Amino acid sequence: MEVDAGREESEGRSVQLSDEDKGKFLLQYVLSRRGVCSERALAKALKALECDGEQLEDGEAEAQVVEMVGRLNVRLSALDYKLVRQRDQLGAWTYAYVDVLPSEDTKLATPLTIEELKYVQWCVREIVEAGQEVVEAQGTKSVVERSVDEALAQSRSGQDGLNAEYDSKSLRFRVSYTAGARQLFQSDALGPLETERLLTRLCQLRWLYRTSEGQFGLATRALAELQEYLRTQYTVPICTVCDEVALRGVKCQCSEGAWHAPCFQHYVAHVSTACASCERPVLEAIYMA
Ligand SMILES: [Zn+2]
Ligand SMILES: [Zn+2]
Repeated sequence: MEVDAGREESEGRSVQLSDEDKGKFLLQYVLSRRGVCSERALAKALKALECDGEQLEDGEAEAQVVEMVGRLNVRLSALDYKLVRQRDQLGAWTYAYVDVLPSEDTKLATPLTIEELKYVQWCVREIVEAGQEVVEAQGTKSVVERSVDEALAQSRSGQDGLNAEYDSKSLRFRVSYTAGARQLFQSDALGPLETERLLTRLCQLRWLYRTSEGQFGLATRALAELQEYLRTQYTVPICTVCDEVALRGVKCQCSEGAWHAPCFQHYVAHVSTACASCERPVLEAIYMA
């Protein structure tokens, strides 16, 4: 009897991790996912580490992740690394492990040769410039567009309903911050084989994402590593709600108002159904597919 009780106690102790250990596990978890991990996945991992994790609410677990990452960053700063919390291309909170040492041009933690770096800068320009072209929103809708429609539909049923003169629950125009494979193979910086290899690598690193139609856009890691570069080199949409670069979601025709899809959901439900800058109704806004 006594032996059993003793063993139980020591087993109980062995799964009791200190906050520091949990922090280390979280960092390892992010690194094992090529340095990019959603907050939701981290919260789930944290719950798995807690012996009473099942009792932890999702919101609480996410708040704990934010707190732990804050403490981790104090230690990582000595090594010039940081876990950056930001919206991923779909608007979900995500962490990316990045190098914070400033370098003269593009600040990248991803190791690239000079030619590759030139190519990446060229890609970024192609992708950002592609986003200037406004077209009719026809055909299949992207995940982002569907969640924008959902937000619009929900907001009109609420008290802060949309103007009744708009019957349609969807937007008329779209832009897309993506470039096609054919386009991205036209660089002088790299040959076709190197281009192919680099594009594959950049997708694996979650630097680029590739749609089912074969279009490439900037993914979480690019948004984390290039946030300042994008803001200073280009005029890119900045989210009205969270103040981060938004290349997918919705933007107003005035280009001042822009939203990630989850931020848009919040905005039309709780803030307004008109652009804060120009007061155009959000139903006249443009999808960023
Ligand atoms: Zn946002
Ligand atoms: Zn506007």
